[in-house]
Amino acid sequence: MSIQSNLNSIKATLPEHVTLVAVSKTKPVSDLMQAYETGQRIFGENKIQEMTEKWEQMPKDIQWHMIGHVQSNKVKFMAPFVSLIHGVDSLKLLQEINKQALKNNRTIDCLLQIYIAEEESKFGLDENELNELLTSAEFKELKNIRILGLMGMATFTEDQNQIKKEFTHLKSIFDSIKTLKAENCELNTISMGMSGDYQLAIECGSTMVRIGSSIFGGR
Ligand SMILES: *Cc1c(COP(=O)(O)O)cnc(C)c1O
Repeated sequence: MSIQSNLNSIKATLPEHVTLVAVSKTKPVSDLMQAYETGQRIFGENKIQEMTEKWEQMPKDIQWHMIGHVQSNKVKFMAPFVSLIHGVDSLKLLQEINKQALKNNRTIDCLLQIYIAEEESKFGLDENELNELLTSAEFKELKNIRILGLMGMATFTEDQNQIKKEFTHLKSIFDSIKTLKAENCELNTISMGMSGDYQLAIECGSTMVRIGSSIFGGR
């Protein structure tokens, strides 16, 4: 199967309110260009250096999403151009993003990553930490970031019930905060679902899916 036909058949199954992030990590620019030529404009990368190199080489109407874990000291490299940062999991990181956004005279959109899996290795906030962050005085001072919603990754398992439980949990956390009124929040996005579980994620309320291997092949 070609990248273009993979992309077209996935897009045909997505409801209109669901945004597709084409996860292109480890793939060469020539592969991304095939997706670009089919009309794809949103790409997801998990390493800042790789994303920056691709941004330099590719058309400027692409929206670059950082989907990986972000180290504070590398935020400055993507601050001029990143469109959405999915994996924000601390106030400290948010403060650094705000600082770099200000330097670039822009506002950077972010999602807060919530820990929903049963694995030790996954990053993210729990519900208490999320509420603490959103209600803190320090958060309210951040004028150059905007929180669009939440991101989560389910446990890597075949057990559909387990995955469904975790996605439903993320949706319920989102519902509990979505009426929050803050100048730097515009809560409308739930980023959940990858190649193996995006259909289930959409059933559970996802508005943004991050799909890599089903478009570009295995890594
Ligand atoms: C790699 C990655 C994806 C895409 O995974 P596929 O299984 O290839 O679709 C989605 N989200 C995150 C955070 C990733 O790192």
